[in-house]
Amino acid sequence: MKLLSVIVPCYNEQENIADFYKELMLNGPFFKDRDIEFEIIFVNDGSNDGTVPEIKKLAGSDERVHLISFSRNFGKEAAIYAGLKRSKGDYTVIMDCDLQDPPSLLPRMYECLVDEGYDSVATRRVNRKGEPPIRSFFARMFYRLINKISNADIVDGARDYRMMTRQFVEAVLSVEEYNRFSKGIFGWVGFRNKWLEFENVERRKGETKWSFWKLFVYAIDGIIAFSTAPLSIASFLGVLFCVAAFVFILVIIIRKLTVGDPHGLVGWTSTACIILFVSGVQLFCLGIVGQYLSKAYLEVKRRPLYIVKEEL
Ligand code: UDP
Ligand code: MG
Repeated sequence: MKLLSVIVPCYNEQENIADFYKELMLNGPFFKDRDIEFEIIFVNDGSNDGTVPEIKKLAGSDERVHLISFSRNFGKEAAIYAGLKRSKGDYTVIMDCDLQDPPSLLPRMYECLVDEGYDSVATRRVNRKGEPPIRSFFARMFYRLINKISNADIVDGARDYRMMTRQFVEAVLSVEEYNRFSKGIFGWVGFRNKWLEFENVERRKGETKWSFWKLFVYAIDGIIAFSTAPLSIASFLGVLFCVAAFVFILVIIIRKLTVGDPHGLVGWTSTACIILFVSGVQLFCLGIVGQYLSKAYLEVKRRPLYIVKEEL
């Protein structure tokens, strides 16, 4: 008998827990036929609604259901890590609680792992139906950018919905960094990976936990975790400005020596604009350096990724 661990990060998902469990269990017969047992690990990421009681209700009637409850909201990345750490399965899958990761794909994913010999099967949605257009636009820009400037291999529309072999899970767990960007880590660890595509499904109940601002910060974190290109941009701008200044000086000297300076002192407004512009660029570059420094600072503190309040 083999074990399939299902990891479900939950943050204020009280309306979705029961539905999720029901739909997941529709796959019961498929896996039973193949002698696979389930282990369902709900990770409560500091919910302040009835999520925990809902999970406990399930755990009371089904001993395959487990719970890790955080002391506060630590974010989905921490929840994923906690779940992976707890999982014992020969195969492990990460799924959202809102049924945006269709459980009906599980059999196909399992077959890819077992029959086709892949180490991980990831999913991506081929459209973004039902999502605000501005959000889709920025998401697309982000994926294009991060693929250009890093070696993380992140596909547009990639979900965290992924089934992995034990070896793959151990590899992901061995990446112990504090600033976790799972989408990047999954690509970074390597192995043979297959992408399954599916049509976007809208969230069953409740609201998305990602505001535009949260997504923006997530994108910046992703770029900083997987690329040092912004630092090179800062250096590049520095060199560019030095060259520009040098050319400027040359022009002024040559002009002075040849035609002189017939108008006397040139207006101070242009000088003010140049100073403003250059100091803006300087602060921008300093900000980039600061971003990396702050991440390094958090990293060396070696704080735990999450604090567990309760476990079942
Ligand atoms: N989630 C979490 N912690 C958070 C935010 C979200 O564990 O701080 C969980 C959430 O309960 C859900 C999954 O992560 O199961 C995806 O969140 P959501 O549906 O809000 O994101 P979206 O699908 O809109 O990207
Ligand atoms: Mg969702």
